Amino acid sequence: MRKIFLVHCFTLLILTAQAQPLSYYLPEGVRYNAAIPTPAGIIHHEVGEWHITHDRLVNYMQAIANSAPDRVKIETMGYTYEQRPQVLLTITSKENHSRLEQIRQQHLQLSDPGKSANVDISKMPIVVYIGHSIHGNEPSGSNAALVTAYHLAAAEGSAIEELLSNTVILFDPSFNPDGLQRFSTWANQHKSKNLVTDPSSREFNEVWPGGRFNHYWFDLNRDWLPGVHPESRNRISVYHKWKPNILTDHHEQGSNASFFFQPGVPSRVNPLTPAKNIELTEKLGRYHAKQLDKIGSLYFTKENYDDFYYGKGSTFPDINGAVGILFEQASSRGHAQETSNGILRFPATIKNQFVTALSTLEGALALRTSFLSFQRDFYKQSTNATGGYVFGDKNDRAKTGLFIEMIMRHGIEVKEYNGPTEADFEKGAAYTVALNQPQQVLIKAIFDKQLTFTDSLFYDISSWTMPLAFGIPCKQISTLNAGNLLTEAPTLKGEVNGGKSEYAYLMEWDEFYAPKALYEMQQQGLITKVATNKTNIKTASGETKLFDYGSILIPVKMQSISSDALYLQLQMVAQKNGLTCYAMPSGSAVIGSDLGSSKFVSLKQPAVAMLVGTGVSALDAGEVWHLLDQRMNIPSSHLDAAAFNRADISKYNCIIMVSGNYGELNKDKLKTWVQSGGVLILEEEAVVWGSQNGIASVTVKKAKNPADSTARIAYVQREQIEGAQQMNGAIFSAEADLTHPLAYGYNQTTVSMFKGNKVFLEKSKNPYASPFQYGANPLQSGYISKENSVAIKNSAAVIVNALGAGRVINIADNPNMRGFWLGGTKLLMNALFFGNIIDAASARTEE
Ligand SMILES: [Zn+2]
Repeated sequence: MRKIFLVHCFTLLILTAQAQPLSYYLPEGVRYNAAIPTPAGIIHHEVGEWHITHDRLVNYMQAIANSAPDRVKIETMGYTYEQRPQVLLTITSKENHSRLEQIRQQHLQLSDPGKSANVDISKMPIVVYIGHSIHGNEPSGSNAALVTAYHLAAAEGSAIEELLSNTVILFDPSFNPDGLQRFSTWANQHKSKNLVTDPSSREFNEVWPGGRFNHYWFDLNRDWLPGVHPESRNRISVYHKWKPNILTDHHEQGSNASFFFQPGVPSRVNPLTPAKNIELTEKLGRYHAKQLDKIGSLYFTKENYDDFYYGKGSTFPDINGAVGILFEQASSRGHAQETSNGILRFPATIKNQFVTALSTLEGALALRTSFLSFQRDFYKQSTNATGGYVFGDKNDRAKTGLFIEMIMRHGIEVKEYNGPTEADFEKGAAYTVALNQPQQVLIKAIFDKQLTFTDSLFYDISSWTMPLAFGIPCKQISTLNAGNLLTEAPTLKGEVNGGKSEYAYLMEWDEFYAPKALYEMQQQGLITKVATNKTNIKTASGETKLFDYGSILIPVKMQSISSDALYLQLQMVAQKNGLTCYAMPSGSAVIGSDLGSSKFVSLKQPAVAMLVGTGVSALDAGEVWHLLDQRMNIPSSHLDAAAFNRADISKYNCIIMVSGNYGELNKDKLKTWVQSGGVLILEEEAVVWGSQNGIASVTVKKAKNPADSTARIAYVQREQIEGAQQMNGAIFSAEADLTHPLAYGYNQTTVSMFKGNKVFLEKSKNPYASPFQYGANPLQSGYISKENSVAIKNSAAVIVNALGAGRVINIADNPNMRGFWLGGTKLLMNALFFGNIIDAASARTEE
């Protein structure tokens, strides 16, 4: 405090950028091996003097591994989107390194209830995974990794030897390399020699989208369970290879806060997490408290943060027999910043992270056998269960495959379904997951719905039931008719059924990658049409087959290429995308529309732009970008408001606006573009913006709030009362009109939507214009307050407006949530490909 007082005495807040020496961080009385390079020797500056870039961080980790080969081994887990290596150090004693594979195998037996009883834990090392800065603009973690790695490699004496003999440390210096690189570049390029501490200065205010996210603007700290991104997949494979006992997750919070360590809010722990987990978290917490007390750092526990959603780094271990620990350090963001606690300097934030990494190891060593036996007990509980789940979408094998990949990544056994054919399930297209397997608790966390809660506040979403998210039929059953165990997700073979046609081909729209295939055909210049009616027609292989709404017609003679060349192209597209094109010998339908009917409507290739930039939700925009680019191979232009305002936008026929604030946008230009035939897709709060600016014709319902009252409510109750009215995210079933172009490719009238907003829409007065709507009781899983539940009841999830020659498609919810809500993908794809064929009279709104 004395230092802060002195600074305030000088009216000129000038701090020279003098670096803290390494000794500032290190504990007193420890001897260090002079043969190990200090960070400054490799990265060319002191720790905390500049923000570490990912490249230099990797250089130092490599240098440590080279100079301390007895203690430290380095490996590359994989690469990020931007091809940065995700490096992992394994740090333990020389003796342990010499039998590391044996240690790992023995450790894994603790999570195998068939073998764990005979494992002697009295001498086994504990496995601790230390991870840093999954949010790239929360840099103290990764910067502290330099000091921690140095300490673990270079410290000498009996204390470190005892630690390393009894611990295997998996050391991950950067959970999010691309984000760290982006942020460090920002912070460094704005640093002044005389440190500027004014929070308004550019150093502390990154440009959109900021370094928090990965390349596609996703929050990797929500991706541990769904594993959409390579960063998570690489890390999770190491995680399950070792199944650590403790995992630390070093973050930053607001600059005016102090330091947080878990346990979090007790009433908000996921009920699947055992009480013993919290008990161990608390015991470990005493070691953090002791060390932070020693250096005079303030801290708090049991407030603000929780352990509910298993996709977060500190919660994911809790469903895997381990204990995840969240650390949140107040952020200096740049190099030194004025806060309500005085000037917060970057080195001080790094020091707290270093100290708690060491206190974690100190606690792990002291509580070693408690953690090991907790892991064994956690998996023992999974032996007593019968039955399980049958799932699979027979019309969408690709999406079923993506679901299987996701669950198998977590060591869950999947078998073929051998049971009787039912409405939803049939042999060859359905799969089973038995509850009687070690990952039982994780399986429940993936498959089950959540409808009862002890608290009404959530740090994150309240539900993520994966079969609903993927939109895959799934049923819990007591007796499983299981067949062969899968070793990998089934690979799909695509083909042109019936050989070459001289007349036409049809492709069904149900498969996940059908839009990707269609876009590719359009890219090759093929003429394509969509079926707005059902047709029952004889294929070239002789069967009479029903082609549903949304089937794609590729006529032969209309194309500018020969029938041979077309056949070759379609074979390639079908094989690449694992789907079937059917050759048609004739255009004559058995029942329904002939192929020359006007019910087959010509399609235009989507030319897509998305509005991005300041005020727009980077997460929502990133989800669209990732879906289009990674999954569908559809390019999209990303326009800031300023670029939109000056660009020729007539080259786009689809514009997407996700949740955000679009104050700077030229709305008249946008409106004129729609009126001349454009398709505008509005998601979530963008629908409200559209309605306020005369572009969308929707009525937004306001949910009641218990605080809208003159009766006095105790001041201290505000957080709980307001918090309970938040829509952090739950799952609702919309009823779909399967004949509407926006519902093509769906086979069930019930479609699960994820709602994490308070955009409640009155149904359109036009009876054809609300193709997805909520019924009287739409909640499928998750928390919703009584007031919000009244608002969503009988509201519309999607409304289509005609505006001149164009269409405005209002989607109240997020169809792409976190890149794993694959049940919403078809809706967005339909809006892109079929938005402009929606009949004007079915979208016109009477004012
Ligand atoms: Zn964070």
